Amino acid sequence: MKGDFPIGKFSEIETPFYYYDTDLLRKTLREINAEAGKYDGFCVHYAVKANANPKLLNVICQAGLGADCVSGGEVKAAVDSGFSPDKIVFAGVGKSEKEINLALDKNIFCFNVESEPELDVINELAGKKGKVARVAFRINPNVGAHTHANITTGLAENKFGIAMCDMERIIEKTLALANVKFVGLHFHIGSQILDMGDFAALCNRINDLQSRLEARHVKVENINVGGGLGIDYTHPNKVPLPDFKAYFGTYARHLKLRKGQKLHFELGRSVVGQCGTLVSRVLYVKQGTAKQFAIIDAGMTDLIRPALYQAYHKIENITSDGPMTTYDIVGPICESSDVFAKAMDVNECHRGDMLAIRSAGAYGEIMASQYNCRPLPKGYTTEDLL
Ligand SMILES: *Cc1c(COP(=O)(O)O)cnc(C)c1O
Repeated sequence: MKGDFPIGKFSEIETPFYYYDTDLLRKTLREINAEAGKYDGFCVHYAVKANANPKLLNVICQAGLGADCVSGGEVKAAVDSGFSPDKIVFAGVGKSEKEINLALDKNIFCFNVESEPELDVINELAGKKGKVARVAFRINPNVGAHTHANITTGLAENKFGIAMCDMERIIEKTLALANVKFVGLHFHIGSQILDMGDFAALCNRINDLQSRLEARHVKVENINVGGGLGIDYTHPNKVPLPDFKAYFGTYARHLKLRKGQKLHFELGRSVVGQCGTLVSRVLYVKQGTAKQFAIIDAGMTDLIRPALYQAYHKIENITSDGPMTTYDIVGPICESSDVFAKAMDVNECHRGDMLAIRSAGAYGEIMASQYNCRPLPKGYTTEDLL
């Protein structure tokens, strides 16, 4: 089955562009709220870095999620889109003074602090403003995720977070600082994780760390387990919704929450991934010596995941019923890595056919660049095309 797209409307729009199925986004958000809502103290934030299109931020904010930001620009985008500052968290290994000051001025819920020198700077800047900044420590749990090496973040060798062996010392130091308040622990082990065992491993590690802190009578109000839930890139039609039931259920079963403790999540890809499609037209069908190329007007500048992570995206020819034919589907950029798919079977391509590159809602539009002096792709929602 091909996706159900408003092809008539598509034909009026200049390609390439992103199309966001906001009905699917709303359905996804309802499922998240229903599954997380089964458990006391579960709070879901949206990881803005996956897609900061203001129209999507608006829908996500309306559904009641908080925002997880990794830059001052994202904090600003979240506030501008209506997210309440008391539901905004701010992570990142390299927060600048300007970004920290912005977040202090907005009174965000919490800084997820990733190093001791960062803690000192936040304490100093908050002091200058006469404020007390809420801080959680991002701990590197040294838990691997069975995912692509470039998107594993929770190993000791990664740049993220504070080493477990430094946790107690830094928390105790914080208790003595005047302008920061310790409010919790933060973790994030990677992305596109489909093995619930990886999340269970994180829970076990957190249980150990909590026992260590309890022995020292340190109270932890918030646990934040980051994001990372994957989507089914192979079957966007059959499996449009990630398995939120299994995801939240895994945390409910394995993580020993203490009384009154809140458990925060920061979901990015699983919220917006399946609702987005990159729509492109075939420019040329070219016979190579050993293979056939479909050269399309979208390139790695519009969607970099295949070039960056060898990521798979299902591609459909939504304007052809011709026989299934094998192509390398490539963009126009002057880079050999500008390839969307090798040996992909799609309905026979002709110049002008429209191709749908599926599951492109996360880390697509937001990572677009103007390399080769190309314009940035535009994004349209279901409502835009009514
Ligand atoms: C990227 C990121 C997320 C979101 O990851 P997804 O895999 O898109 O769910 C959450 N938290 C932090 C700190 C991140 O850097």
